[in-house]
Amino acid sequence: MKRVVSPSAQGPGNANSSKRDPSRLVPDPVPNDALSDPGFSQDVIGWQRLHGRHSLPWQNTRDAYRIWLSEIMLQQTQVAAVIPYYLKFLSRFPTVAMLASAPADEVMAHWSGLGYYSRARNLHRCAQQVVALHGGIFPDDPALLAELPGIGRSTAAAIAAFSYGTRAAILDGNVKRVFARVFGVDTYPGEKKTEEQLWRLAVALLPQAAPSSTSLSASLVDVKSALPASEQVPGESGLQARVQAYTQGLMDLGATLCSRSRPACERCPLAGRCVALATGRVAELPVRKPKKATPQKYAVMLVVTDGDAVLLSQRPDSGIWGGLLSLPELDGFNEPEHDAAETAVVRTEREASIARVLAPFGEVAACERLQPFSHGFTHFKLHVVPYRVRLARRVAGIGQTQSVWVSMDKIGNAPLPAPVKKLLLALFGNDDLFATARASASGAV
Ligand code: SF4
Repeated sequence: MKRVVSPSAQGPGNANSSKRDPSRLVPDPVPNDALSDPGFSQDVIGWQRLHGRHSLPWQNTRDAYRIWLSEIMLQQTQVAAVIPYYLKFLSRFPTVAMLASAPADEVMAHWSGLGYYSRARNLHRCAQQVVALHGGIFPDDPALLAELPGIGRSTAAAIAAFSYGTRAAILDGNVKRVFARVFGVDTYPGEKKTEEQLWRLAVALLPQAAPSSTSLSASLVDVKSALPASEQVPGESGLQARVQAYTQGLMDLGATLCSRSRPACERCPLAGRCVALATGRVAELPVRKPKKATPQKYAVMLVVTDGDAVLLSQRPDSGIWGGLLSLPELDGFNEPEHDAAETAVVRTEREASIARVLAPFGEVAACERLQPFSHGFTHFKLHVVPYRVRLARRVAGIGQTQSVWVSMDKIGNAPLPAPVKKLLLALFGNDDLFATARASASGAV
């Protein structure tokens, strides 16, 4: 049987919903194969209704723009860290059209500090494509959503489920952990075969069109009517409401009960079917990634000041901190020498390199090595040796370079990587240090 997506489920953000084809069909439920188990989704839904999260800023809406924004921000970032960014971002870019037409710099500045900056670049491109290709309306088909920048299969399913009630399976890191424990999956989830196995489970366990009456408690027969008024949407079917509650329930379970360490199994609705719990392997599952040594990278960064301005360079779009402003760097520095004391030879070579790199911007008057620091990324660790450089004479124009002089009082709002911003604010972030920097630049110190 085919079902029609209700136009009323399209959400307030899709004001031009009349452009959508009202006969658009969501997929039929998959056949009830050997993996399917209606009791699984019923347990998750029942728990979500009573104990799940219902008042996060991106809940109680079917606005696909807001839901998409939250899903992208929540990738690799905790809820508590996302909330202030989400609210600030929405107040500046309240619609997908406003985000699409905003300057890239401004989008990056509003993302600055949230990390994983490729998400922000993809977010901007995605908004532009939604406007250009879909008339400003996010599609309800997960396959179409997954063609947009920055939206993978699981994120596409979450957006479609929360915005339109589309019956689609999610499988983020938290859900993988729940499935690996409940079904005793004892191979690493990052392996292709294991991931395929988890996807098969995720699809098979989705709520079915007609809930089983045998194991379904009376209070769950119509989940929609049991939802708080704020979460009910006129025209939404019982299955759509169940899909939404189930999707949210899986996320909530993984985030709040079935945590990586110390899961609260005594309160878990899946405890009775959990293989890891029954076999004493909760701490072992999911199987961890085989360990590899973390690669180490090294960089020399230059804090170049002139008066109350600091020199910043635009980073290339690809690579770490892509598209953000950052401090100029010396090329070819890849030795782990930052821990060692600076020898006279190293210092002389370094000063010559700094003078060469900064020649387009002015003549170097003095440079001083600052305290090295390290910053951890997912796949490597970056060790930075910063040098404070004072120019004697600044070149008037900096021509075609990707660099810009930024007033120190603008540092707080500039699109800078978090550790660079922290360094600059530590150096120049209060009045005393401002005064010192100005006096130093003018030769008084
Ligand atoms: S019983 Fe424990 S380990 Fe199993 S799914 Fe629930 S919280 Fe996770």
